[in-house]
Amino acid sequence: MKKRAGIGLLLLIATTTICHSQQVYENRFERSLSDVLKDISVRFEVKLSYDIDTAGLVLPYADFRIRPYSVEESLTNVLAPFDYKFVKQGDKHYKLKRYEYARRTPEDGEKMLSHLLSLYPDKEGWEQRKECLQREVRENLGIDSLLAKRVQTKPILSKIRKFDGYSVQNFAIETLPGLYVAGSIYAPLSKGKHAVIISPNGHFADGRYREEQQLRMGTLARMGAITVSYDLFGWGESALQVGNAAHRSSAAHMIQAMNGITILDYILTRGDADRERVGATGGSGGGSQTILLSVLDDRYKAVAPVVMVASHFDGGCPCESGMPVTLSCGGTNNAELIAMFAPRPLLVVSDGGDWTASVPTLEFPYLQKVYDLYGVREKVQNVHLPEEGHDYGINKRKAVYDFFDNLFSLDARKIDESKITTESEDDLKIFGKKGELYPDHAIKSFGELSKYFDKDRYRELLSDLSLEEKAAGWVASLELEDQKDISFLNTLIYNHLKAVRDWHNTHPYTLVPDGINPVTGNPLSQLDRQMIVNSTIPKEVHQKLMNGLRRVLTEPQVETILDKYTVGKVDFTLRGYKAIVPDLTAEEEATILSHLKEAREQAIDYKNMNQISAIFEIYKTKCEQYLIGNGRNWRQLYKDFVNKVNEEKKKGKK
Ligand code: ZN
Repeated sequence: MKKRAGIGLLLLIATTTICHSQQVYENRFERSLSDVLKDISVRFEVKLSYDIDTAGLVLPYADFRIRPYSVEESLTNVLAPFDYKFVKQGDKHYKLKRYEYARRTPEDGEKMLSHLLSLYPDKEGWEQRKECLQREVRENLGIDSLLAKRVQTKPILSKIRKFDGYSVQNFAIETLPGLYVAGSIYAPLSKGKHAVIISPNGHFADGRYREEQQLRMGTLARMGAITVSYDLFGWGESALQVGNAAHRSSAAHMIQAMNGITILDYILTRGDADRERVGATGGSGGGSQTILLSVLDDRYKAVAPVVMVASHFDGGCPCESGMPVTLSCGGTNNAELIAMFAPRPLLVVSDGGDWTASVPTLEFPYLQKVYDLYGVREKVQNVHLPEEGHDYGINKRKAVYDFFDNLFSLDARKIDESKITTESEDDLKIFGKKGELYPDHAIKSFGELSKYFDKDRYRELLSDLSLEEKAAGWVASLELEDQKDISFLNTLIYNHLKAVRDWHNTHPYTLVPDGINPVTGNPLSQLDRQMIVNSTIPKEVHQKLMNGLRRVLTEPQVETILDKYTVGKVDFTLRGYKAIVPDLTAEEEATILSHLKEAREQAIDYKNMNQISAIFEIYKTKCEQYLIGNGRNWRQLYKDFVNKVNEEKKKGKK
């Protein structure tokens, strides 16, 4: 077997790529960012936690940036060159983060709102501003070209399930050719025209299938409104089409808006839907969608965005801020976008535990000023729950029930969530448990869908999706029953594959200087250098995977997954040793196997087959040294084996 000595030793040596020479003008007083941050932590006695990667980063004029009187000024100066920032986590604790384009501070929100108000001192000024926003939001979102690509087909509808005072029917609508949005319609059992409430979802676990969502849908239906709940793009049944990772794309921002508009189009074709009473409500990311739908679609008469409206946060998910909507008309934010709903009735629900904590003092007074332009201050309401956090809990639901009850003349006597039947996730799906009922022409991947967009834009996402698929394929091979375990493992392995890929992609081999392998004396190859860099991946990445695998799987199942990573190399290599050493003893086999298993566990943190093979070579060297130490004439055995193979080849040819 081919020898590849030396790399093992190298991988054990921590890499220090920066020479610590004296800092002077000529070397721009450079120091490694990570060292400077460590110094700051010690000097100011603060804890720093890292959401950023400092590997290989060098800070010029490093110590000059430290201000002895202020840890925060020092951190700002040190982090700014890398587009990093800090967020105070409490007394003497800072979290270091990347720049977040969608998140600012309440102080910024205050400045922005007062700037915005200066643009429209009167109703006329506001109407002009509104016109600009209506136009540019559509343009920046790219919604009209997408709407133009829609197909007109009949919705797919399930049987109607009747419960206490309401019914549930699953539906799916084809939007773009082959692409579907699926959801459930909760309707009153009573006859006559009903109000309509569209309920886009946020990023709460279990999406539209969660109990709290079903309670709210069912209760509003019992009160007399047709209420529609539907999947986020890349969640629930949509994930069965395009994969989960597709959600984190700018396409999600456009598609979710298209879904909301298309669903309302359909619901208003129902004979029992009342066009004069159309509302929307959603929490968190569902609040973001509610705000956006209210701007795009003038059919709404009353809306209630929950735990989302803020002047300093646009929603950090690409489904909320993937397209540059808030750059419209020189810059806007969610507070101004929802102000466009004036003079129609608006309820803003906020709490003390998230970015909506500022609503009573900041966003609500601003909204009142805009509503004042129409002389209808009372049409905008704020229910603020200072003791509560980021959810759509019972007190928030009650506020929304009351709001729509008043405006749409619903029946408040029917507010009783105990009457609602919570259905299983599978009951709420129209395309079956695993999407087996999707029509034949349905799109089956985000790759197929991306033809409707600029494909280059999604190169990295498509790579993410291929990792997601790989992880799901490996997990499927275990044939597990428990759906929770399956989705946990899918995510666990996907996150690990992604971490390994990202580390590789962001750490070029050039981070390791050209040099020699101290064992062989040969120059370091590009592969050597890349592997040294890749070996610096934080140990937690590996540990998190292994702990997760061992938590839900048996040891043989864990091994199956590790074999997937290393394409069965343990077994393959062991068979090689058995062929070379025909009388391999049980003890020798056990020792070799344990070496190969070590190789396997180490190799999973490397990016590609070249690197994985190189790791195995290190351990093969160990195996061969062991055999030699055990009195085996390895050189002779190997020679005999090669001769035997060549003989057989010759025979085969004859
Ligand atoms: Zn999202």
